[in-house]
Amino acid sequence: MIELKGVTVRYPNGVVGLDDVSLTIPDGQFVVVVGLSGAGKSTLIRTINGLVPVTEGSLVVNGVEVAGASNRKLREVRSGIGMIFQSFNLVKRTSVMNNVMIGQMHDIPLWRSFLGAWSAEEKEIAYQSLERVGIVEKAWTRASQLSGGQQQRVAIARALAQDPQVMLADEPVASLDPPTAQMVMKDLQRINRDLSITTLVNLHFLDLARQFGDRVIGMRGGKVVFDGTGVEADDKVFEDIYGRSLTADDVLPGQA
Ligand code: ADP
Repeated sequence: MIELKGVTVRYPNGVVGLDDVSLTIPDGQFVVVVGLSGAGKSTLIRTINGLVPVTEGSLVVNGVEVAGASNRKLREVRSGIGMIFQSFNLVKRTSVMNNVMIGQMHDIPLWRSFLGAWSAEEKEIAYQSLERVGIVEKAWTRASQLSGGQQQRVAIARALAQDPQVMLADEPVASLDPPTAQMVMKDLQRINRDLSITTLVNLHFLDLARQFGDRVIGMRGGKVVFDGTGVEADDKVFEDIYGRSLTADDVLPGQA
């Protein structure tokens, strides 16, 4: 479970990233967070992961209080969280397999990862993770030779290989074309349902959120301005989140 109570995050330059946010995300929930650039979506994810310190309030992730936690406690929290980024963050010059192995690295001494001295069990976990995203046949391909959608699938497999309780995805489909974005969102949803991994996905646009959000959280100016189902996220909610009316440009081709 992830529980924020009155969480405010103020960056050292005085900018408020999160403004008195209270949220409870039960285990296994699939949550989509929407909002414009600068709304606080990324700050929310980085705060849950302990990368940005909580200025005020309480944040409990999987039973650990993150606000004011020691580095050792923060490492413990992070080991249970798989991260997925817009830019995939793969090591492009090496194989898909090595990239996925990096997901298990918090358990593996660094020298073994450099030598590629993986145990049979570690390799099995990597293969299983690649199978979950339907890309196991690319295991020995260089990451640089994959399309954007395939790279994001490898990044999802890398997060899975870590055996996380929580997955945090920061605009994971922002660099992908609409059909590929749909496929990657479906992968994330399927994995959430199959493995009950609590999943938070930041998205810029509401239409994917409406489609995939069992729960949609709308943010604006560091505050939660909507918390409901995708179905409840109507055009009025759009105005609350984006500060203007919905236009044709806000709907992906083929979604209208
Ligand atoms: P989003 O992910 O919704 O685009 P962010 O969480 O990145 O929003 O940003 C929320 C606010 O915090 C913005 O005003 C942004 O400029 C500010 N911000 C984000 N990161 C930093 C940082 N490292 N230092 C100072 N301000 C930041």
